[in-house]
Amino acid sequence: MNIRNLSFIISRGSTFGRMLGLVLVLSFVITLIEHACADNDAKAVEHIDVLLIDGQNNHDWKACSPVMMATLEATGRFKIERATVTKEEVADFKPDFTKYDVVLSNYNGASWVDETKVAFVEYIKNGGNLVVVHAADNSFPKWKEYNQMIGLGGWEGRNEKDGPYVYWKDGEFVRDDSKGPGGSHGSPWEYKVIVRDADHPITKGLPSEFLQAKEELYDRLRGPAENMKIIATAFAKGGSERHEPVLMTLSYGKGRIFHTVLGHDAKSMLGVAFQETLIRGTEWAATGTVTFPPVDAENLPVDRAVSRKPQDIKHTD
Ligand code: ZN
Repeated sequence: MNIRNLSFIISRGSTFGRMLGLVLVLSFVITLIEHACADNDAKAVEHIDVLLIDGQNNHDWKACSPVMMATLEATGRFKIERATVTKEEVADFKPDFTKYDVVLSNYNGASWVDETKVAFVEYIKNGGNLVVVHAADNSFPKWKEYNQMIGLGGWEGRNEKDGPYVYWKDGEFVRDDSKGPGGSHGSPWEYKVIVRDADHPITKGLPSEFLQAKEELYDRLRGPAENMKIIATAFAKGGSERHEPVLMTLSYGKGRIFHTVLGHDAKSMLGVAFQETLIRGTEWAATGTVTFPPVDAENLPVDRAVSRKPQDIKHTD
Protein backbone atom coordinates (compact mmCIF):
# COMPACT_ATOMS: atom_id res chain seq x y z
CA MET A 1 0.00 0.00 0.00
CA ASN A 2 1.39 3.39 -0.87
CA ILE A 3 1.07 6.58 1.12
CA ARG A 4 -1.51 8.06 -1.23
CA ASN A 5 -3.92 5.14 -0.54
CA LEU A 6 -3.25 5.47 3.18
CA SER A 7 -4.17 9.14 3.19
CA PHE A 8 -7.47 8.28 1.53
CA ILE A 9 -8.32 5.58 4.11
CA ILE A 10 -7.42 7.77 7.11
CA SER A 11 -9.52 10.63 5.88
CA ARG A 12 -12.53 8.48 4.91
CA GLY A 13 -15.47 9.02 7.24
CA SER A 14 -14.19 12.35 8.54
CA THR A 15 -15.88 15.66 8.04
CA PHE A 16 -15.04 17.32 4.77
CA GLY A 17 -12.88 19.97 6.51
CA ARG A 18 -10.86 17.44 8.53
CA MET A 19 -10.54 15.28 5.48
CA LEU A 20 -9.29 18.12 3.36
CA GLY A 21 -6.80 19.16 6.08
CA LEU A 22 -5.48 15.65 6.45
CA VAL A 23 -5.13 15.20 2.73
CA LEU A 24 -3.30 18.48 2.44
CA VAL A 25 -0.88 17.55 5.26
CA LEU A 26 -0.27 14.13 3.80
CA SER A 27 0.22 15.56 0.32
CA PHE A 28 2.83 17.84 1.78
CA VAL A 29 4.56 14.88 3.45
CA ILE A 30 4.43 12.90 0.21
CA THR A 31 5.95 15.82 -1.67
CA LEU A 32 8.75 15.98 0.90
CA ILE A 33 9.39 12.24 0.62
CA GLU A 34 9.36 12.36 -3.17
CA HIS A 35 11.76 15.28 -3.07
CA ALA A 36 14.14 13.43 -0.77
CA CYS A 37 14.06 10.36 -3.02
CA ALA A 38 14.74 12.48 -6.08
CA ASP A 39 17.72 14.01 -4.28
CA ASN A 40 19.09 10.56 -3.47
CA ASP A 41 18.68 9.47 -7.07
CA ALA A 42 20.46 12.60 -8.23
CA LYS A 43 23.36 11.87 -5.87
CA ALA A 44 23.73 8.34 -7.18
CA VAL A 45 24.41 9.63 -10.69
CA GLU A 46 26.07 12.90 -9.73
CA HIS A 47 28.63 13.96 -12.25
CA ILE A 48 32.18 14.97 -11.59
CA ASP A 49 32.88 18.24 -13.38
CA VAL A 50 36.24 18.18 -15.08
CA LEU A 51 38.14 21.00 -16.78
CA LEU A 52 40.57 19.53 -19.28
CA ILE A 53 43.32 21.95 -20.27
CA ASP A 54 45.34 21.47 -23.46
CA GLY A 55 46.39 23.49 -26.51
CA GLN A 56 50.16 23.29 -26.13
CA ASN A 57 52.25 20.19 -25.63
CA ASN A 58 55.34 18.55 -27.14
CA HIS A 59 53.01 15.54 -27.52
CA ASP A 60 50.03 15.20 -29.86
CA TRP A 61 47.46 16.83 -27.60
CA LYS A 62 44.99 17.15 -30.48
CA ALA A 63 44.83 13.35 -30.71
CA CYS A 64 45.28 12.61 -27.00
CA SER A 65 42.66 14.86 -25.39
CA PRO A 66 39.68 13.33 -27.24
CA VAL A 67 40.84 9.86 -26.15
CA MET A 68 41.03 10.93 -22.53
CA MET A 69 37.63 12.60 -22.76
CA ALA A 70 36.07 9.54 -24.39
CA THR A 71 37.65 7.32 -21.73
CA LEU A 72 36.24 9.29 -18.82
CA GLU A 73 32.90 10.00 -20.47
CA ALA A 74 32.38 6.31 -21.29
CA THR A 75 31.98 5.64 -17.57
CA GLY A 76 29.05 8.04 -17.33
CA ARG A 77 30.62 9.56 -14.23
CA PHE A 78 32.41 12.59 -15.66
CA LYS A 79 31.27 15.76 -17.40
CA ILE A 80 34.16 17.42 -19.18
CA GLU A 81 34.73 20.95 -20.39
CA ARG A 82 37.78 21.52 -22.51
CA ALA A 83 39.92 24.66 -22.45
CA THR A 84 42.26 24.73 -25.42
CA VAL A 85 44.88 27.34 -24.69
CA THR A 86 47.16 28.11 -27.61
CA LYS A 87 50.22 30.29 -27.23
CA GLU A 88 48.29 33.22 -28.72
CA GLU A 89 45.42 32.73 -26.26
CA VAL A 90 47.40 32.21 -23.08
CA ALA A 91 47.18 35.88 -21.99
CA ASP A 92 43.38 35.60 -22.03
CA PHE A 93 43.20 32.27 -20.22
CA LYS A 94 41.39 33.19 -17.01
CA PRO A 95 38.95 30.40 -16.23
CA ASP A 96 36.84 30.11 -13.11
CA PHE A 97 38.53 27.00 -11.72
CA THR A 98 36.09 26.88 -8.82
CA LYS A 99 33.35 25.66 -11.19
CA TYR A 100 35.09 22.29 -11.46
CA ASP A 101 35.67 19.35 -9.14
CA VAL A 102 38.97 18.62 -10.79
CA VAL A 103 41.33 20.05 -13.40
CA LEU A 104 42.86 17.54 -15.81
CA SER A 105 46.05 18.84 -17.34
CA ASN A 106 47.23 17.76 -20.75
CA TYR A 107 49.07 21.07 -20.98
CA ASN A 108 52.78 21.54 -21.48
CA GLY A 109 53.25 25.07 -22.70
CA ALA A 110 53.69 28.77 -22.11
CA SER A 111 53.36 30.19 -18.64
CA TRP A 112 49.90 31.36 -17.60
CA VAL A 113 49.44 34.99 -16.56
CA ASP A 114 50.03 35.75 -12.88
CA GLU A 115 46.34 36.31 -12.22
CA THR A 116 45.54 32.81 -13.47
CA LYS A 117 48.41 31.23 -11.56
CA VAL A 118 47.28 32.89 -8.32
CA ALA A 119 43.69 31.76 -8.94
CA PHE A 120 44.85 28.20 -9.62
CA VAL A 121 46.97 28.01 -6.45
CA GLU A 122 44.04 29.36 -4.42
CA TYR A 123 41.70 26.85 -6.06
CA ILE A 124 43.92 23.87 -5.20
CA LYS A 125 44.75 25.18 -1.71
CA ASN A 126 41.05 25.50 -0.94
CA GLY A 127 40.22 21.96 -2.00
CA GLY A 128 40.25 22.09 -5.78
CA ASN A 129 41.90 19.07 -7.35
CA LEU A 130 44.29 18.19 -10.14
CA VAL A 131 45.19 15.33 -12.44
CA VAL A 132 48.52 15.56 -14.26
CA VAL A 133 49.04 13.32 -17.29
CA HIS A 134 52.44 12.47 -18.77
CA ALA A 135 54.08 15.60 -20.29
CA ALA A 136 51.93 17.94 -18.20
CA ASP A 137 54.66 17.28 -15.63
CA ASN A 138 57.17 18.94 -17.96
CA SER A 139 55.27 22.21 -17.81
CA PHE A 140 55.97 25.29 -15.69
CA PRO A 141 59.53 24.45 -14.54
CA LYS A 142 59.85 27.76 -12.70
CA TRP A 143 56.43 27.84 -11.06
CA LYS A 144 57.21 26.78 -7.50
CA GLU A 145 53.66 25.99 -6.39
CA TYR A 146 52.94 23.92 -9.50
CA ASN A 147 56.04 21.84 -8.90
CA GLN A 148 54.95 21.31 -5.30
CA MET A 149 51.59 20.11 -6.59
CA ILE A 150 53.02 17.63 -9.09
CA GLY A 151 55.88 16.47 -6.84
CA LEU A 152 58.17 15.44 -9.67
CA GLY A 153 58.74 16.87 -13.13
CA GLY A 154 61.06 16.54 -16.08
CA TRP A 155 63.02 18.46 -18.68
CA GLU A 156 62.84 22.25 -19.20
CA GLY A 157 66.07 22.78 -17.27
CA ARG A 158 65.09 20.78 -14.22
CA ASN A 159 68.07 19.44 -12.25
CA GLU A 160 69.31 19.11 -8.65
CA LYS A 161 68.15 22.66 -7.83
CA ASP A 162 64.54 21.47 -8.26
CA GLY A 163 64.69 18.54 -5.85
CA PRO A 164 65.82 14.94 -5.59
CA TYR A 165 65.36 11.97 -7.85
CA VAL A 166 62.97 9.57 -6.17
CA TYR A 167 62.90 5.82 -6.85
CA TRP A 168 62.27 2.46 -5.24
CA LYS A 169 65.32 0.49 -4.10
CA ASP A 170 65.68 -2.47 -1.73
CA GLY A 171 62.12 -2.27 -0.51
CA GLU A 172 61.92 1.46 0.11
CA PHE A 173 61.78 4.81 -1.61
CA VAL A 174 65.06 6.65 -1.95
CA ARG A 175 65.47 10.42 -2.29
CA ASP A 176 68.65 10.90 -4.29
CA ASP A 177 70.16 14.39 -4.29
CA SER A 178 72.95 13.58 -6.73
CA LYS A 179 73.53 16.06 -9.52
CA GLY A 180 72.00 15.61 -12.94
CA PRO A 181 69.19 16.57 -15.27
CA GLY A 182 65.57 15.81 -14.46
CA GLY A 183 63.66 13.74 -17.01
CA SER A 184 64.67 11.12 -19.56
CA HIS A 185 63.31 7.92 -21.06
CA GLY A 186 64.40 4.79 -22.87
CA SER A 187 62.86 3.28 -26.00
CA PRO A 188 59.13 2.55 -25.98
CA TRP A 189 58.10 -0.92 -24.81
CA GLU A 190 55.34 -2.61 -22.89
CA TYR A 191 56.34 -1.92 -19.32
CA LYS A 192 55.20 -3.50 -16.10
CA VAL A 193 53.48 -1.31 -13.55
CA ILE A 194 54.06 -2.57 -10.00
CA VAL A 195 51.68 -1.44 -7.27
CA ARG A 196 53.59 -0.27 -4.18
CA ASP A 197 50.57 0.75 -2.11
CA ALA A 198 47.74 -1.72 -2.53
CA ASP A 199 45.62 0.03 0.11
CA HIS A 200 45.18 3.28 -1.76
CA PRO A 201 41.67 3.69 -3.25
CA ILE A 202 43.16 4.03 -6.76
CA THR A 203 45.21 0.82 -6.63
CA LYS A 204 42.93 -1.15 -4.32
CA GLY A 205 41.03 -3.45 -6.61
CA LEU A 206 43.73 -3.49 -9.29
CA PRO A 207 46.08 -6.43 -9.84
CA SER A 208 49.42 -6.07 -8.01
CA GLU A 209 51.26 -5.95 -11.34
CA PHE A 210 50.02 -5.21 -14.85
CA LEU A 211 51.40 -4.30 -18.26
CA GLN A 212 50.89 -0.91 -19.93
CA ALA A 213 50.67 -0.62 -23.73
CA LYS A 214 53.86 0.14 -25.61
CA GLU A 215 55.16 3.63 -24.91
CA GLU A 216 58.13 5.47 -23.45
CA LEU A 217 58.54 5.36 -19.69
CA TYR A 218 59.63 8.53 -17.92
CA ASP A 219 62.56 8.23 -15.58
CA ARG A 220 64.89 10.45 -13.54
CA LEU A 221 62.13 12.99 -12.79
CA ARG A 222 63.06 15.56 -10.15
CA GLY A 223 61.03 17.83 -7.89
CA PRO A 224 60.29 18.77 -4.31
CA ALA A 225 58.42 15.45 -3.84
CA GLU A 226 56.70 16.68 -0.69
CA ASN A 227 53.35 15.38 0.59
CA MET A 228 53.68 12.71 -2.08
CA LYS A 229 52.75 9.04 -2.04
CA ILE A 230 54.11 6.82 -4.80
CA ILE A 231 51.48 4.17 -5.31
CA ALA A 232 53.06 2.40 -8.31
CA THR A 233 56.45 2.13 -9.99
CA ALA A 234 57.89 0.67 -13.20
CA PHE A 235 61.41 -0.53 -13.88
CA ALA A 236 63.06 1.76 -16.46
CA LYS A 237 64.77 -0.84 -18.60
CA GLY A 238 67.21 0.80 -21.00
CA GLY A 239 66.74 4.07 -19.13
CA SER A 240 67.69 4.79 -15.54
CA GLU A 241 67.56 1.05 -14.72
CA ARG A 242 65.66 2.02 -11.57
CA HIS A 243 62.14 1.41 -10.29
CA GLU A 244 60.65 4.78 -11.21
CA PRO A 245 57.47 6.39 -9.85
CA VAL A 246 54.61 6.09 -12.34
CA LEU A 247 51.48 6.75 -10.27
CA MET A 248 51.61 9.33 -7.49
CA THR A 249 49.16 11.02 -5.20
CA LEU A 250 49.86 14.32 -3.50
CA SER A 251 48.20 16.89 -1.33
CA TYR A 252 48.55 20.64 -1.58
CA GLY A 253 46.59 22.52 1.04
CA LYS A 254 43.16 20.89 0.92
CA GLY A 255 43.67 19.82 -2.71
CA ARG A 256 44.25 16.30 -3.96
CA ILE A 257 46.52 15.59 -6.91
CA PHE A 258 46.84 12.46 -9.01
CA HIS A 259 49.97 12.35 -11.16
CA THR A 260 50.38 9.67 -13.82
CA VAL A 261 53.38 9.38 -16.12
CA LEU A 262 51.44 6.94 -18.32
CA GLY A 263 49.86 8.22 -21.54
CA HIS A 264 52.46 9.15 -24.16
CA ASP A 265 50.21 9.03 -27.23
CA ALA A 266 46.67 8.36 -28.40
CA LYS A 267 47.50 4.69 -29.04
CA SER A 268 49.06 3.93 -25.65
CA MET A 269 46.13 5.79 -24.07
CA LEU A 270 43.99 2.88 -25.28
CA GLY A 271 45.95 0.67 -22.89
CA VAL A 272 43.64 -0.65 -20.19
CA ALA A 273 46.36 0.20 -17.68
CA PHE A 274 46.21 3.86 -18.68
CA GLN A 275 42.41 3.89 -18.86
CA GLU A 276 41.71 2.25 -15.51
CA THR A 277 44.28 4.29 -13.61
CA LEU A 278 43.08 7.54 -15.23
CA ILE A 279 39.45 6.78 -14.41
CA ARG A 280 40.16 5.79 -10.83
CA GLY A 281 42.74 8.51 -10.30
CA THR A 282 40.46 11.25 -11.60
CA GLU A 283 37.58 10.12 -9.42
CA TRP A 284 39.88 9.90 -6.41
CA ALA A 285 41.30 13.39 -7.02
CA ALA A 286 37.79 14.82 -7.39
CA THR A 287 36.14 13.04 -4.46
CA GLY A 288 38.73 11.29 -2.29
CA THR A 289 37.15 7.91 -2.99
CA VAL A 290 36.90 5.40 -5.83
CA THR A 291 33.50 3.88 -6.56
CA PHE A 292 34.47 1.94 -9.68
CA PRO A 293 34.49 -1.84 -9.32
CA PRO A 294 37.75 -3.77 -9.03
CA VAL A 295 39.56 -4.82 -12.20
CA ASP A 296 40.89 -8.38 -12.18
CA ALA A 297 44.06 -9.79 -13.74
CA GLU A 298 42.06 -11.23 -16.62
CA ASN A 299 41.10 -7.73 -17.76
CA LEU A 300 44.37 -6.11 -16.72
CA PRO A 301 47.01 -8.81 -17.11
CA VAL A 302 50.75 -8.72 -16.54
CA ASP A 303 51.72 -11.22 -19.24
CA ARG A 304 50.39 -9.14 -22.12
CA ALA A 305 49.47 -5.52 -22.73
CA VAL A 306 45.76 -5.15 -23.43
CA SER A 307 44.05 -2.21 -25.11
CA ARG A 308 40.41 -1.38 -25.83
CA LYS A 309 38.35 1.32 -27.43
CA PRO A 310 36.89 3.85 -24.99
CA GLN A 311 33.37 2.88 -26.09
CA ASP A 312 34.04 -0.61 -24.73
CA ILE A 313 34.57 0.77 -21.23
CA LYS A 314 31.76 -0.23 -18.92
CA HIS A 315 29.25 2.48 -18.10
CA THR A 316 28.53 2.81 -14.40
CA ASP A 317 24.94 2.23 -13.39
ZN1 ZN B 1 55.97 11.07 -24.06
